[in-house]
Amino acid sequence: MKIRQFLVTLAAVVVFLVAPFAASAQKGGGGVDFDLQMRAYDLVDIQELAPGVLVELKYSTEDNFVGKDMYGTLERAYLVPAFAERVVKAQEILQRRNPNYTLLIYDAARPISVQRAMRRIVDGTEWESFVADGTKGGRHNFGVAVDLTIATLDGTPLDMGADFDEFSERSSVKGTPDSSDPATRTIDVYRSFVRGLQTSGVITKEQADNRILLLEVMCEAGLVPYRLEWWHFEYLESISTTRSKYKLLDF
Ligand SMILES: [Zn+2]
Repeated sequence: MKIRQFLVTLAAVVVFLVAPFAASAQKGGGGVDFDLQMRAYDLVDIQELAPGVLVELKYSTEDNFVGKDMYGTLERAYLVPAFAERVVKAQEILQRRNPNYTLLIYDAARPISVQRAMRRIVDGTEWESFVADGTKGGRHNFGVAVDLTIATLDGTPLDMGADFDEFSERSSVKGTPDSSDPATRTIDVYRSFVRGLQTSGVITKEQADNRILLLEVMCEAGLVPYRLEWWHFEYLESISTTRSKYKLLDF
């Protein structure tokens, strides 16, 4: 029994020591293999849990605010397993409400190297304040944030009244700064703010309805939006809690 325990411990030590070399072996030539790295950090591919969820990573195309493909071969949406379960729950809630609708994911876990590259591109520009710091990382860099919308089953996104990554007043879902106080981040708060946008003519009734549907299914599944981005959802916890609980995707 003792020998067996020793072997198990030895195996763990070997894995611990070898893992960094295995990781660096992916570098060079084609660069880091993001898929392998995501799995090495125990993240899950959302489509393995919910094949019906659509994924179109905007940073793996040139159709994003930096105008460059930042992800290369990465095409899949990875998340911390417990976070992914909430997205799966949201998909189930959405399809119960309307079987012709599905979630369409634009971004999920993001390597810190990509975050730093984004920051370098936006430094000194009007976009600067919209891109999380590349030193400590934002929630996407810990695998606990998702950017998404609702689409019809053929992949056509619903009209939310503002584009993904449109950094303007039209993208907001709440007027006051975010905090960790649950009372300030409820579906009622979001619903009344979005109806306010409709009333003041910033977005149409249809756009407000669509945005509220997304908010309702995500909140019911236990995730909350970032107030300036209708497409971004996260745990209701402070960034310092996120940084202490999860591993930074350090590749
Ligand atoms: Zn986001």
